[in-house]
Amino acid sequence: MKKKEDICCEIVKDTSKKYVPMSPEIVQTSSFYYPTYDDFIAVSEDEKNNYVYTRGTNPTSEILEKKLAQLENGEKCKLFASGMGAISAIFFTLLRHGDHVLMANTVYGETVALAKYMEKFGVTCDRVDLAATEDIASHIKDNTRLIYFESPSSQKFELLDLAVISAIAKANHIYTVIDGTWASPIFQNPLNHGIDLVVHSLSKYIGGHSDLVGGAVIGSNDLVDEIFAHGHQSLGAAISPFNSWLALRGLRTLPVRMKHLDEAVRTVIDGIKDDDRIAAIFHPYCGNSTQQALSQTYLSGYGSLLAIDLATEDFDKLLNFVNALEIVSIGVSWGGFESLALPAFKGNNSEKLAERGLSPSHIRLYVGLEHPESIISDIKQALDKAF
Ligand code: PLP
Repeated sequence: MKKKEDICCEIVKDTSKKYVPMSPEIVQTSSFYYPTYDDFIAVSEDEKNNYVYTRGTNPTSEILEKKLAQLENGEKCKLFASGMGAISAIFFTLLRHGDHVLMANTVYGETVALAKYMEKFGVTCDRVDLAATEDIASHIKDNTRLIYFESPSSQKFELLDLAVISAIAKANHIYTVIDGTWASPIFQNPLNHGIDLVVHSLSKYIGGHSDLVGGAVIGSNDLVDEIFAHGHQSLGAAISPFNSWLALRGLRTLPVRMKHLDEAVRTVIDGIKDDDRIAAIFHPYCGNSTQQALSQTYLSGYGSLLAIDLATEDFDKLLNFVNALEIVSIGVSWGGFESLALPAFKGNNSEKLAERGLSPSHIRLYVGLEHPESIISDIKQALDKAF
């Protein structure tokens, strides 16, 4: 079996061409030329396997699709203009009026907003604690069609038992979809544990340089083809060839970056965990024994996104802390080269935080590629200024 590093770095060696570029061409075209109308009819009847129009397929994007499918041990991958484009396409394709979605109570906010919006189309959603696997069966209704989750979750970074969830879903003929962005395809492969579809936001680790937005869905030929035919083609969230090319460039260093970040995040957590100005750290590395066991089963390394609660309810201290950070920047998203901090509290959303079980002093921290000791020193000096 090919190693993941080899898949990420493999050059497309089409020796039928006069030259083979090490870095693939960016096929920057909207549409493709055919010598005869018969040729056009032949390809347009099977658009998913041919090049007709870049809203459907594109050679540069296809290189990345093949690599991501291999990395996830899936049959097929389809790229999208963003992670949300991918998630919306799944919902649009797999759900019908009258269906019910079981969603983990801890997923990315925009995905929750999508599920709530689907009510308009007669799709209902219950957000539940999927960590309590013994209760999952009781949440399933006759019309439950999809179980959707992240593992680890957004905000508290708790791992779920993929094999158990998938077994319950299969017994009830329900699709399972995981957003696997946190661990990347390098550290977790949910399809191996029976999950039907994996979603990645390419905007995070795969792109890796904070310079593109993209998404991917990986699964069986049948499911991905169905999503291509409906969610991809009709919603039209097609990735641009240039963004696919940037993501391919990011992918070459993904295993090396993930290896570094796995070590870096543990170093940073070890460096701040005994500071009494930090009330809690949320990351599987410092999770309880259940989380440790789930890490052992499902992860071959740690993503570097975590969260902390400061030991204060004072919003000024929270503000002073994030404003005093020098190496760690304030900003959304994560997975790039730069360390980031993002408080959950915006001054007016206490109720929403309480609903999600988050403290007002909850801060999402992303450990980037700066030296881990510099990140620790930065956090410490900002704590000194805030407290
Ligand atoms: N999934 C997770 C866990 C995310 O954090 C995000 C974005 O922040 C997304 C999905 C959405 O991806 P995108 O921003 O590429 O639409």
